[in-house]
Parts: sequence; C-alpha cells; structure tokens
Amino acid sequence: MKRNNLKKDSELFKIIQNERKRRKETLEMIPSENHTSPAVLEAMSTILTDKYAEGYPGKRYYGGNEYIDEVENLAIKRAKEIFKTPFVNVQPYSGSPANMAVYFACMNPGQKVLGMNLKDGGHLTHGWPVSFSGTYYESIFYGVDKKNQLIDLSEVEKIVKKEKPKLIWVGGSAYPREFDWKGFSKITGEAFLAADIAHIAGLIVAGVHSDPAPYVDIITTTTHKTLRGPRGGMIMVTEKGLEKDPDLGRKINKAVFPGLQGGPHEHQIAAKAVCFEEAAKAGFKEYGKKVVENNKILAQELTKKNFELVTGGSDNHLCLIDLRNKNIGGEKAEALLEMAGITINKNAIPDDPAPPADPSGIRIGTPAITSRGMGADEMIEIADLIDWVITEKDEKAAEEAGSKIKKLAEKFPLPYDF
Ligand SMILES: *Cc1c(COP(=O)(O)O)cnc(C)c1O
Repeated sequence: MKRNNLKKDSELFKIIQNERKRRKETLEMIPSENHTSPAVLEAMSTILTDKYAEGYPGKRYYGGNEYIDEVENLAIKRAKEIFKTPFVNVQPYSGSPANMAVYFACMNPGQKVLGMNLKDGGHLTHGWPVSFSGTYYESIFYGVDKKNQLIDLSEVEKIVKKEKPKLIWVGGSAYPREFDWKGFSKITGEAFLAADIAHIAGLIVAGVHSDPAPYVDIITTTTHKTLRGPRGGMIMVTEKGLEKDPDLGRKINKAVFPGLQGGPHEHQIAAKAVCFEEAAKAGFKEYGKKVVENNKILAQELTKKNFELVTGGSDNHLCLIDLRNKNIGGEKAEALLEMAGITINKNAIPDDPAPPADPSGIRIGTPAITSRGMGADEMIEIADLIDWVITEKDEKAAEEAGSKIKKLAEKFPLPYDF
C-alpha cells in the first residue's frame, strides 16, 4: 500500500504535519503520554479496522473472522505472558471503558465502591461524582495523609471495616509513589480488589515496579501510557481473582461484550499485540528503568532549586509539584512552560485550596522523553529551564527557554520520524 494517500487531503494533512512539527520541537512531559513505535502505528493503520467481530475468538456473531480470531488470540497470549495472569480481555476501547466493565461484572447499581479521592491523585472512574462510577454506584473515598501525603493503610482499613464496599480500587493518575498491593490485599475483606495500573503498566512489565498480580483479583490498564502501545484498554483476572470467583473471567467478558461494547477494534488489538511483543524484549526493561531513573534525577534537580514535590519525591515516572512557594498558579505555569516547549499539565495537589481550573500544582513526567532517548544530562538541562521559566514568570524568558528546548528536542528524533 502506498503510504502517501493522506497527502491528497491537504487540509487534514497540513494539520497533522503541524502536530508532527510541534512534537519534534518540543518535549512531551505529560506523564500519561508517550511516543509509540512505527510498528504500533503501522498495525493501527491496517485493513483490520474494517472488520466486525462482535463476540470472542471462536464465538463470533459475524462471518469471516478466521484471521481476526488469530489476531485477538495472539494479543491475549502475549498479554498473559507479560502480565502473568490466567485471564485477559483485550477488547476495551480505552482505560475508562475497561474500568466500567469491571463495575458491570462485579456489582449491581447502587452498591458501594471505594476508590482514592480524585483530589489526592485517584481517577474519575474510581467513583467520582461526575463519572458514571459515582452516578450509578455509591462511591466512598480514601485519601492521602495530610502530613506526609502518602496513602495511610490504617485509614483505608477503617473505612473498609465500616463501609464494607463491594469493590476497591488501588491506582491513580497523580500519585508519585509505589502502591502497596500486599498491604491492600490484607485489608480488603470480602471486596473485589482491583489494581488500576493505567499509568504504571510499563514500569510493572519492565520489572521496576512491584507486580500486583499476586495480591489483587482484577487488573485494568490502558495500553498507551508507560506501556507505550496504541490508545486502548484491557482487563486481567488473576489466579487470586479466579479463586475468589471462578466465573469472574466469563463475567468480565460478558460485561465488555455485549454489556458495554459492540464490535471490538481489531486494528487496535493488533497494535496491542505489537506493543506486548515489544514490552517482552530486553530493551523495554532498559526503557522502564530509565524512565524511573530520569524522573529521580529530575525530582532531585527540582528539589535543589527549592521546588516542593508532593510526598517529598517520587518512585515512579511522575512528579507532582506544589507551586505555592513559587507564587505562581498551575494554570499560568502550564501556559508559560508550553510557550517554552515543555508540555505538562496543571494538577491539583492533595488538599488543594485552589479551584480545579487553576490548581496549585503541576504534574510532570518522563516516559515520552525517555522513549526519545534522553538521559541524565538532558534532565539537568530541563530542570534548569523549568526553574528559569517559573522564576521569571514572563513570556520573554519562556520564549528564550523555548529556543533552547527546540535545540535539545531536535537532537532526539521521535521514534516515528521517518
Ligand atoms: C488514564 C487513566 C484511566 C483512563 O484511561 P482513558 O484511556 O483515558 O479512558 C483510568 N485509570 C487511571 C488510573 C488512569 O490514569
């Protein structure tokens, strides 16, 4: 297939070229983002997108799925290998639909779910009122300790004992520390314990973060964050989960289809299979290690420059920075850093006195710049420039920093620069 057909749609092509240029010249430091490999991109643009395959391999509601079954089975097999779980569903369109399927499989509307408070780093789908999860289920929350900003398991235990939730989520989007899967498993009681590893799946597969599989019943993840695959989601049931409910895998399958989704996106599933294969290679371990190392260096450098890191540091791929001592709000910091070619996002900090539209913090992470090949020297330079922009607080400094960032970025081609 010729690869230049999109050029004929010049209106759209120009926009995509501009996005490509933006990425070349700037640093993607939003912790939930990454740069996929050319093979993942290729799989996403294959003919597999055309096919309807409602159902599961060997049991479809449409004909012509002989090879589609092979694609999906391959993705499942590879996922089981890298996550070491006996059951996998690779059909969820994304992370939120994956989580929705867990609710649908494990509980009835109105039953209780316990999740980490969004304001303390949890996720919308863990029971937040504006989400389906807080609308159709009774949601209760645990947070982080006011003093050390860490999850306090004894507090969680008290809530579990009093409220007896049906489902408990561990995981989040803005928690810079490792999760204590084992600790949670001891206080779960009768509830289903679900690990949402959307942010850290790549770190777990790379072996740099502890594996929840021995301790939880269910694992959900996105495939596009540290795992570095296509935009998508998936659900695993562990040995432990199957011991608790031998029917849990079937219930998850039923919840995904026909419960919530119609035809699976088989081109996306093929790209997931590519991603799992890449994640099984030695190079991925190196990448995972480097993501965390780079983030540690960034955290240290920023701390030296008197930036206050929530929890005092980071164990993973992200830093949550409390900007109050720098006299700048999250919104302005995000805008100035964007001008400087450093893409990050404003983020609430635990117990944030400021409103969500202009919170007191920013969230910053290393997966994408690590995929680009950056290391210690670059982290030091980036920390210097962040400090300069945040200290100066004006557009002139941001633009000057931007020309430096552009030079730095252009030294590290994107994986899909061809
Ligand atoms: C990103 C994320 C999700 C949702 O993923 P989407 O693909 O954006 O729907 C779910 N849970 C956590 C913890 C996340 O960080």
